[in-house]
Amino acid sequence: MRFYLIGHERINPILQLLICLFPDEEHSQGNPDEGFEGEYVISELRAGEGRLIAEARDYRGHVYTLDCPAGMTADDPAMNEYVRRALYLLLLPQLEQPPVWGMLTGVKPAKLVRNMLARGMTPAEAATSLREDYYVTPRRASLAVRSGAVSRDYKLQMGPRDIDLYIGIPFCPAKCSYCSFVSNDVRSWGHMVEPYVQALLREVEGMGRVLRQTGREIKSIYIGGGTPSILNEDQLARLLDAVHTHFDLGSLGEFTLEAGRPETITAEKLRIAAQGGVGRISINPQTMNEEVLRGVGRLHTAQDIIDCYHMARETADFQINMDLIAGLPGDDDQSLISSVEQVVALDPDNVTLHSMARKRGAPLRFGKTGTLAAETVDRCHDIIGQKGYVPYYLYRQKYIAGGLENTGFAKPGTECRYNVVMMEEIGDVAALGSGGVTKLVYEDGHIERITNPKYPIEYIQGPEKIEQSLHKLLKALENH
Ligand code: SF4
Repeated sequence: MRFYLIGHERINPILQLLICLFPDEEHSQGNPDEGFEGEYVISELRAGEGRLIAEARDYRGHVYTLDCPAGMTADDPAMNEYVRRALYLLLLPQLEQPPVWGMLTGVKPAKLVRNMLARGMTPAEAATSLREDYYVTPRRASLAVRSGAVSRDYKLQMGPRDIDLYIGIPFCPAKCSYCSFVSNDVRSWGHMVEPYVQALLREVEGMGRVLRQTGREIKSIYIGGGTPSILNEDQLARLLDAVHTHFDLGSLGEFTLEAGRPETITAEKLRIAAQGGVGRISINPQTMNEEVLRGVGRLHTAQDIIDCYHMARETADFQINMDLIAGLPGDDDQSLISSVEQVVALDPDNVTLHSMARKRGAPLRFGKTGTLAAETVDRCHDIIGQKGYVPYYLYRQKYIAGGLENTGFAKPGTECRYNVVMMEEIGDVAALGSGGVTKLVYEDGHIERITNPKYPIEYIQGPEKIEQSLHKLLKALENH
């Protein structure tokens, strides 16, 4: 859809709202001086009597007008909400059904709640604001408030020297058809795994130096990917040894290894992980539907997941997370619900239910209708909740199926700190490995990012770039 702005230049808020409401359409800005054409909307901010007026109009002649509070000026950041609200309320009647997240477009609804709580609102008031000011459904409002309260509590407990670490292993046994990560299929790139591990060990050593010099206390480590369990036994042992040798783990409360795909997991790797201090692993079926697994390029079966889960339980006292994805191509409501039932029947400590996010412009087909209904995901949440899991973090993505969300559930007391800190951006996270993005969160809310080379080949061949990133981190931490 083409959009025109008059009297303001709030391109991003308007564009994000249009993407959220009409994800299958292309959206572009037009110049009102050149006249209006095609199917368009206009967002205008103009002076009224003693106050500003936010107005939205469309090519059909529909108009929605909103009086802004008296005294509010055009450059007030809160004005974003008024121009978005006018447009949302104009377009709402054209939608098949109201979006469950209303006019919220941000990927972190819980962050909004945390800010509301920090301003002195009670959780009940925050829920009311989400429902009445942002048109969020009561169920999503309650989900956001619950997650916002968890992240607020984590934030309150954080010390000034806390840091959490991410170590990325960007290799997988095969590329899933829906994957948008930089992950390399070992069938073509297997020869790069060992050089990558060697480069990573150098970075672990360098990171250890930086953290010791700046007196940082490591609270959690998360080895993610990719599929970290793609490392062979020797590589995994060397990585864990390096972690123990170079990092001070005196304050470490959580150590996760994303095992991910069962065909990469062996009892020996799990023993090495447990001996290396790993206390939490992830075994990710994504779906328990064999046909869908094959369709998306996974090399394992649902039975492999079950066998792997039991092997992990027998090997060590891990907390186990299991990831599922709602809206996978070829899946449908019944099969999704059945996958959820099968996974919770295994009784993992955490269950994460993602909604399929597609790359921009890629078609999304789910079941017969091609859409993922909120009711289906609600049913899944109910099944998970009935087994004693409580939602504790959530995030949304652009182009996410059904405009829904990804939600992490945990049995009380088994929440993953790293997920909360990283997703909610409430503390510093240093990232190692290719594609790693270190984020330092400052008191005023701004975030400083330090990036590593994106692709493994650059990472392996560019030790000086890693040194530069570490040097930048050292300088930033000295002043932070
Ligand atoms: S296992 Fe995960 S990272 Fe690897 S290809 Fe599949 S979705 Fe991507």
